[in-house]
Amino acid sequence: AMVAARASDTGGKPQQVDVAVVGAGFAGLYLLHRLRKAGLNAVALEEADDVGGTWYWNRYPGARCDIQTIDYSYTFDPELEKAWTWSEKYATQPEILRYLGFVADRYDLRRDIRFKTKVKEATWDDASERWLITTSNGPAVSSRHYIMATGCLSAPKPPEIEGVGDFRGEIYFTGRWPHEGVNLAGKRVAVIGTGSSGIQSIPLIAEQAAHLTVFQRTPNFALPAHNGPAPADRLGLLQGDRAAYREQARQSMTGVPYPQQTVVSWQLSDAERRERFERAWAAGDLVHILTQLWADQGVDVDGNKIVQDLIREKIRAAVKDPETAAVLMPDDHPFGAKRPCLDTNYYATYNRPNVTLVNLRQEPIKAITASGIATGKRNIDVDVIVFATGFDAMTGAIKAVHPITGRSGKSLSDVWAHGPESYLGLTVAGFPNFFMITGPGSPSVLSNMAVSIEQHADWVVDRLAALRDQGFTTMEATDKAQAGWAQHMADCSMVTLHRLANTWYTGANVPGKAQGVMPYCGGVGPYRSICDEVVSRGMLGFKLT
Ligand code: FAD
Repeated sequence: AMVAARASDTGGKPQQVDVAVVGAGFAGLYLLHRLRKAGLNAVALEEADDVGGTWYWNRYPGARCDIQTIDYSYTFDPELEKAWTWSEKYATQPEILRYLGFVADRYDLRRDIRFKTKVKEATWDDASERWLITTSNGPAVSSRHYIMATGCLSAPKPPEIEGVGDFRGEIYFTGRWPHEGVNLAGKRVAVIGTGSSGIQSIPLIAEQAAHLTVFQRTPNFALPAHNGPAPADRLGLLQGDRAAYREQARQSMTGVPYPQQTVVSWQLSDAERRERFERAWAAGDLVHILTQLWADQGVDVDGNKIVQDLIREKIRAAVKDPETAAVLMPDDHPFGAKRPCLDTNYYATYNRPNVTLVNLRQEPIKAITASGIATGKRNIDVDVIVFATGFDAMTGAIKAVHPITGRSGKSLSDVWAHGPESYLGLTVAGFPNFFMITGPGSPSVLSNMAVSIEQHADWVVDRLAALRDQGFTTMEATDKAQAGWAQHMADCSMVTLHRLANTWYTGANVPGKAQGVMPYCGGVGPYRSICDEVVSRGMLGFKLT
């Protein structure tokens, strides 16, 4: 394969490669490795100054994965698995970042990554059948294929509150936490947001701060992580037969190898249900509680309500002040329809004398002022405001490259004006040789992302290699196939409870964003089968030229 041209030695001319990848996180790194092995020359363009993606940017106190780390790992190379041992059941952000750096070094990936390089625009040229990608730094890139591995939780949502510019204290975003850390000792701190990042950081911020005020709009279901060493039973299964364990994950609904439950809630007595629930609670595992209680909890409101009640009981028991406990209890969405969280001491933190909870449903924030936060009822003076307000999920980072221009000058944001459309969540009609990793239409955020990322990257790279070997230059989804996928997506989400919650899965957290369940709800294993079937049926739904 041709050696990829370096930014420094192309002068003003575009860098010529077979494949341009955007992003050097979990997905971009694996793509580079696979592309190279397939004999395709590639460059990855990355805004940050190092690899890691999510684990590069999210350095807030308490940042960890919440899928057990033995599952949240690459599985493509058994030698890599042998060479790395996780220290905890849920690894911290620094450890995961070290792991991704270790992977980058082990496969010598950094030489094909252009860091501090933000991709600005991408344009398909019909005549040359190539993408032209402009960047913030160094030459443009001309490539046959364009893969966005830009992450589905990588574009932080800008604050929607007036007056942010007036605030005289310090402002931080969990998703852009300073590398040197933040000293909160003796300070009055506000945390806005109680999603995963808020729930992970609040207990640790409360320990440091003089006073912490938490601003909550939507209460979330959070379960104790019970972090520690990887549990012996899970580790035993993995080490007993690694290949079988990984294969079971690939065929599972969530990307974590748990068996499918078949017993439904009403077949169990109260005592049996409670016993299952207590076991799940003690396991400290999201996927366990989401999949192992009873088969109807994710698809039937009654089966779900039982789980909700049991969790609310736990919240009531953990929080001493009944009023605070009531505010912390989710009551507007089915359990699992909004991303549940894993926590360490989250609810107990509200028993601390230096922590106050503000219910934004009763007193919305009016403005941020020079000295703090003003609600309809009071002014709360603080030294530090932490925005844990989440991301413009799934489409934010893709649409931030603007415009992405496909055939006949059509731009992706126009095509997606009423919501994202795709075929298989991987491709878009009218955008030849364009691919997304864990974009809308993929199982993505409803799965263990490590498994989905490997599957997507394998599928895409295998297709590119096959295309080349068969003498084709382009592949493009047909409009019909795309419409069919939309219908199938809708059918799958109809049988789950996701459509009953307004969440970042549905675009509800970003004002003005099109609404609809964005991830594919049909499960990781079934999704994989469909992708494979598309190939075995002669690239069903694609036009090759
Ligand atoms: P990312 O890691 O987001 O990487 C994308 C990269 O693309 C970034 O480095 C970004 O800088 C770069 N980029 C984007 N746009 C541009 C551009 N225009 N130009 C140049 N570069 C660009 N998933 C799980 O499965 N389990 C978990 O436990 C889990 N925990 C998480 C915890 C947190 C705090 C967060 C935020 C996410 C978590 N996730 C988890 C989801 C996580 O994002 C994925 O697991 C995975 O890390 C995504 O990898 P990626 O490479 O697809 O994207």
